[in-house]
Order: sequence, then structure tokens, then C-alpha cells
Amino acid sequence: MENDSTILSLRGLVKRYGEATALERVDLDVRRGEFLTFLGPSGSGKTTTLNLIAGFIEATEGSMLLDGEPLEKLQAHERNLGVVFQHYALFPHMTASGNVEFPLKQRKMSKSERTTAVQAALEMVRLGSYADRYPRQLSGGQQQRVALARAVVYRPPILLMDEPLGALDKKLREWLQLELRRIHRELGSTFIYVTHDQEEALVLSDRIAVFNEGRIEQIGSAHDLYDAPETLFVGRFIGESTVIKGTFADGRFTAAGRGLQVTGSIPSGRGAVLIRPENLAISGPDGTGLPDRAVNRIEGTIEDIVYLGPARKYNIATEHGTAIVRVPEREAAAARIGDRVMFGWAPDDAVLLADTETPVEAVSAT
Ligand code: ADP
Ligand code: MG
Repeated sequence: MENDSTILSLRGLVKRYGEATALERVDLDVRRGEFLTFLGPSGSGKTTTLNLIAGFIEATEGSMLLDGEPLEKLQAHERNLGVVFQHYALFPHMTASGNVEFPLKQRKMSKSERTTAVQAALEMVRLGSYADRYPRQLSGGQQQRVALARAVVYRPPILLMDEPLGALDKKLREWLQLELRRIHRELGSTFIYVTHDQEEALVLSDRIAVFNEGRIEQIGSAHDLYDAPETLFVGRFIGESTVIKGTFADGRFTAAGRGLQVTGSIPSGRGAVLIRPENLAISGPDGTGLPDRAVNRIEGTIEDIVYLGPARKYNIATEHGTAIVRVPEREAAAARIGDRVMFGWAPDDAVLLADTETPVEAVSAT
């Protein structure tokens, strides 16, 4: 059931193209005023879901409610939603202000109201002094900001964005991410944003919906997804992790013949423990110096060392696959590539997950 804080509900959305299924089934309640991001690999159904909301395509099954009203019966232009896509070209023969004014003319707003609204929208995207420029006289980032001003100038309740920063270089993208956060705060409207870039999702979002193969695997804050992934897919997709596969049985976990301590709600059958890089401690091969609580200990060989400024990251080859350990730079020891090391973790720093991935021959599940 949706409630007052829900602006948009998607129920059992399915989209098929002939034999091909673009969306398996999507259920989602979007909260009023939130910055929600659809995150997932290419082909997972993010754009399809956004296009269904925008009204650019029709669902095969399922329903959508905007403020409790069925959305399907409205044409795209009647839905009154703002849209910014990666390549949603501006009208080339109109200036920046002409572009931003266009949706207001369509809505029959008076000239004086239009002038005020256009100027405010251009100032919001920091292009107040570029009103008379044509798109060809603007950089890619400036054009996307004009497109954003055009999409929000009529105050749509929801702004839909599909990889709007995808074509821009990294520095500009990072700056515009901060700008988008500010604009979201200033407008107070609901933003739905699509990206395949997990860092971008973490920076921008109040909540993230992780898409995989036409479904939402998990929805939550960045913190929820990082600390408590509910599936191996989500755990691997958000942030970095060490994944050790094995078998849960009778409250115990065995990986490659080795028993490891686990705690909390313990699954059964094929599964994995997942540990974030900052929750692993590292020492020389004898384990001296590992904290007492790091009772699970595994040996390996350093494959790579990456300097991250405030931290140092070790990739360690083990019989369970590659482990990733991150240590604050001031605590980092003088280890080198090729050194034998031991790393360890406390049972309550690991996430326990069922293994739903296709079995790999090399993984021994004893
Ligand atoms: P994403 O935006 O997450 O990269 P999409 O929603 O664009 O993914 O696509 C989801 C799946 O649907 C993909 O497998 C894609 O090939 C398929 N798909 C999308 N549009 C069409 C179409 N018009 N005809 C056939 N298949 C499509
Ligand atoms: Mg897409």
C-alpha cells in the first residue's frame, strides 16, 4: 500500500519485446521529495522503467499510480514530468532562454511570468548570463544545464534523468553531481536518476534501487546497501568486497575445507561470506599483530598495492580468490608485492549471503 509519503507507485511492471523480456517485474514506491537512483549494469532495465514512467513506452503488464491516480491513461505530455536524457538535444535554432521558455509557452503562461521563471531557472543552473547563447555556443556541460533548466522550469512533481552526465568528462561530472544535489534541495521535488556508475549513485542519492536482469534486487540508502547487502549481486556491485564462497550447514561455514566462524542469522546451503576492505586486518604470515577479535584468518600473497592517498589497498591472492584489504596510510606496513601475508576479520564484520550465482567449477563447496 502506498501512503502520503509515496508520490509514485509501480506495481508488477513487466515489459516484453516479443520473446525478449526487458523487465521481469518491478515493484517500487517512490517517496515524495526523495533523490532516488536506479543503479545497475547495462541492460538491467533502468531505462525501460524510466521510459514507462515518462510514458514513452507502454507496459506489457502492471500498473503505475502518480499521487494515487492511474498514470497509464495519460499521454507522455499530459503526465507533466520533467525529463533529461543523456542526448536530449536542445532546439538548435533557439537560444538558451528560448529553450527554457518553450515548455512555458506550451502551457500558455503569460509573457511576464515566463520571463521571470526562465531567468530563475537559468540562474539556478548558474547560466543566468548565457540566456542569449545558442546551443552551438555552449559546451556539453552547459547544454545539459540548459536541458535541466528546461525540464524543471514548469515545476514538475518528478524529474526523470537518464545518465544525464554520461557524456561529460570526470571533473565536470563531479561538479555537476554536487550541483544536482543543490538543485534537488532547492526545488524540493522528486528526482529519479539512472546511472550505471555506483560512485555517482552513492554521491547523489537518498535511496538507490539496484537493478539486475529486469528486477530491483534491493532498495535502500547507500549505507544500507554497503553495510547490509541482501544479495551477493548487490554486495559486489556496491563498493568493494572480499567474497569467500562455501557452504553453510548446522550454523557453521566451510570454505575449501576450512571452517570459518560466523555469527548472526546464518543461511543454509551454498553461500558466501562478504567482508568490506576496511574490515579486514593484515599482518605478516605468522599473524602477529592481528587484533584478537579477528578470529578468522587466511594466508595469501600480495598481488598488487594501490595507494589511495589516505589509505593503501592490498589485493591478496588466496585459495578462495582475491581478497581486498584497505588500511589507513599511517598504519600501513612496508609490505611489497609478492610478500606472504595473513589477513583476518571478526565474525560480526562479515555479511552472510546465499550463493545464487552460477556455480563456478573452481569453487569447491565441501
Ligand atoms: P539499461 O537502461 O539498464 O541499460 P534497458 O532498460 O535499456 O537497460 O534494457 C533492458 C533490456 O531490454 C535489455 O536487454 C535491452 O536489450 C532490452 N530492450 C530495451 N529496449 C528494447 C527494444 N526496443 N526492443 C527489444 N529489446 C529491448
Ligand atoms: Mg539505459
